[in-house]
Amino acid sequence: MNGVTDGAADGDRATEVAAGLTARGVTAVALAWVDNAGITRVKTVPTARLAHAIRWGVGMSPVFDVFCVDDSITTSRHIGGPVGDLRLYPDLDALRVLDAQPGWAIAPADRLTQDGDAHPACQRSFARRMVERAGADGLTFRMAFEFEWFVGAHNGVHDAGDNEPIPACTGPAYGMTRVVELADYARDVLAALAAEGVAVDQFHPEYAPGQLELSIAATDPVTAADRVVLVRETIRAVSARHGLRASFAPMVSAGGVGNGQHLHVSAWENGTNLFAGGEGPHGLTGRGESLLAGVLAHLPALCAISAPSVPSYLRLVPQHWAGPFQCWGLENREAALRLITGTAGSRASAANAELKCVDGSANPYLVVGAVAALAHTTVAKGLRLPAEVTVDPAELPDATRPARLPRSVTEATEALAHDDVLGAALGEPLLGAFLAVRAAEAELFAPSSPEGIVAATRWKY
Ligand code: GLU
Ligand code: MG
Repeated sequence: MNGVTDGAADGDRATEVAAGLTARGVTAVALAWVDNAGITRVKTVPTARLAHAIRWGVGMSPVFDVFCVDDSITTSRHIGGPVGDLRLYPDLDALRVLDAQPGWAIAPADRLTQDGDAHPACQRSFARRMVERAGADGLTFRMAFEFEWFVGAHNGVHDAGDNEPIPACTGPAYGMTRVVELADYARDVLAALAAEGVAVDQFHPEYAPGQLELSIAATDPVTAADRVVLVRETIRAVSARHGLRASFAPMVSAGGVGNGQHLHVSAWENGTNLFAGGEGPHGLTGRGESLLAGVLAHLPALCAISAPSVPSYLRLVPQHWAGPFQCWGLENREAALRLITGTAGSRASAANAELKCVDGSANPYLVVGAVAALAHTTVAKGLRLPAEVTVDPAELPDATRPARLPRSVTEATEALAHDDVLGAALGEPLLGAFLAVRAAEAELFAPSSPEGIVAATRWKY
């Protein structure tokens, strides 16, 4: 809902919401959206100005569609340059008071033209459109991203050298020691998310030094993408309050184990989970299998969206549990599509597929929209999955090893540029701007070593 379609009613509601926020001590609201470089950008308004923002939007240049991770600006056929303006419209239903940033709230924003039309390159509108399109044919989704992050200490000097990843804990992978070392920090993360209404499923220390992970409950896809911004910025804020810093970058140390931001997906028709109770492999229904086969076939192109940055391809390598092979398997953590049936008895609700080739440099709205588009296009095609991979694909002989997913941004964008389903779903202004950012970032880092790439992007995401 935005001010252009029903300005007066939205204005009234916004006035009410603003009064409620003021009563809760909220001074300002951040209107947030995620750009094609995967960076969350904002304009903020004092709470007293929220009603105005709801009614008339807040200005922001369309040139942000071609911003890169280092804030350099490229251009594309339809979008680029200093001229023009868009309006950010905060989504009041998704507004949340930020627990770890006292006095602040955040609201995901949709981007509209000054005439009130959807901006053709608005990623959140794209996600909503794809979800609605599937929904019109009775196909709905439950989705949840998982968050792996590195929690780092500052070097104590805050000088130019304060870029190194100094783990904020020293305990072993998955070790209780880390939970003890970071007990106050972890408690504050969990408490803040609870206060913001985010249902956390689980929290644990991950494999890499200083790496933690949090998983949250599945929601509708657009909410799942909204949660990426909310959860990450909350963790970032709690980290700052503890004198620490969080990195959701695909890689924080060259050659190490990266941060994934895996996406769990289940698909539903008539109240039934398509991944359970069927005659296909591991209980997949025929339509569930078709949809997964469709997603699997389009994975090289999807990677351009789900692993879009140059450091993404330092992470997406074999034997790091990042899912770099174009294959599927029950609980196979080296497969890009890991099928999860859940515990016996819970499967009708629990069964889902985990897309592992996703990281924190992705725009989550593009990821959920692309997955919804692929699922919707292929659910009724009667596609069959290829043979399941039940071992580490890297250990298979050449002849039977599944294909590697793209090994670079350039390979992935090649695949996306030739993918009719995703191309048509995104539409040229969005696709063109998105590809332009990929090309500019590939060029930006072409002369850099893996260490240089990681150093330049470590604290950006
Ligand atoms: N850190 C791994 C990644 O880069 C994932 C580990 C896991 O399976 O949770 O995706
Ligand atoms: Mg993990």
